[in-house]
Amino acid sequence: MEPRNQKTAASNGGLFSLRVFGVPVRFHFTFVLFVIFLAVIGLEGPSGAQAAIYVLALFGSVLLHEFGHSFVSRRYGIRTIEIVLFPIGGVARLERNPKPAEELWIALAGPAVNIVIAGVLIGLAAGLFGSLDWDQVFRRRGGNLLGQVALGNIVLALFNLLPAFPMDGGRVLRSMLALKYGESQATELAAKAGRILAIGMGLYGLISANYMLIFIAFFVYLGAAQESAALMGRQLTQGVPVSAAMITDFRTLSHGQTIRDAANLLLATSQQDFPVMSGSNVIGLLSRGTLLRAMAQEGPDSYVAGVMERDFLRLDPRMDLSEAMLLLAQAGTCALVMEGEELRGLLTAENLTEFLLLRRLDRTNVERA
Ligand SMILES: [Zn+2]
Repeated sequence: MEPRNQKTAASNGGLFSLRVFGVPVRFHFTFVLFVIFLAVIGLEGPSGAQAAIYVLALFGSVLLHEFGHSFVSRRYGIRTIEIVLFPIGGVARLERNPKPAEELWIALAGPAVNIVIAGVLIGLAAGLFGSLDWDQVFRRRGGNLLGQVALGNIVLALFNLLPAFPMDGGRVLRSMLALKYGESQATELAAKAGRILAIGMGLYGLISANYMLIFIAFFVYLGAAQESAALMGRQLTQGVPVSAAMITDFRTLSHGQTIRDAANLLLATSQQDFPVMSGSNVIGLLSRGTLLRAMAQEGPDSYVAGVMERDFLRLDPRMDLSEAMLLLAQAGTCALVMEGEELRGLLTAENLTEFLLLRRLDRTNVERA
């Protein structure tokens, strides 16, 4: 099934997206702020146009870096859901979490791409101009653009190899720690390293009045926090079947009912998505968004069966909740829990959040006792 990313994209701060090699690429709004920031700096310098080309070239390098990750993960049979570009780099969101041994190579592939780009550019510059004037490159006096982009790629590779989350080096560190300490403890250690690195960077940025560094530290901190939150979600859901978290008390619509009936049900209940039945068979799903759109476009007397979504997410009640959580986030809608052709329940982002909250409280109570 084709992932429906429009909804998640809007809620995750995406501005616009495109597809490259069949993979959706999304630009986080902070990335756009970053480009503006660099452009302003570029305008202050001697050559604004060169600064703009430099930024574009680095942006292309970051994109190729992410494709490095997604190329290697594809070799392990892991599809890339999307690539999101942030100011300090990109994130390739994978369909499932790689095993430690896979993660090592997937993580290394990104920085390796930057090293290759740098090598090719240095080779090209050497061929064109004989050699590179590194002194000029480091002082960035609008000299050799090829050399500057090569240097930018080396910086990207080194920065990403820092052994802390959310950098690739953090993933390398985790995959190696996982061999000794197990996966969850390894993640916690790598995330802790990320937070310490971010705080150190931020403090140094403040002391030296380097605002760029403070800006980067902020994103490193966010990334490390996000990684521990994702781990917490995984820990709370791993080994738990979908049936434990699903909604079992819900209403359905019959295919002969109208949009008006559906709207009444939407008002009368707290439910937002309704399975559409023909007898005891599920034939579709009517989400709140589709219902409202149909109300505006087709009118209240149109039939539910004519507007419902026929391509909906089905989950097996025995499926692991940690896997279901990823699929649900990817689909961005309600999932129907079905055993064969029989409807057993619904799973939504809201009730999954409640489930996680309850389980977390439950755990702290157990720890206290
Ligand atoms: Zn990377």
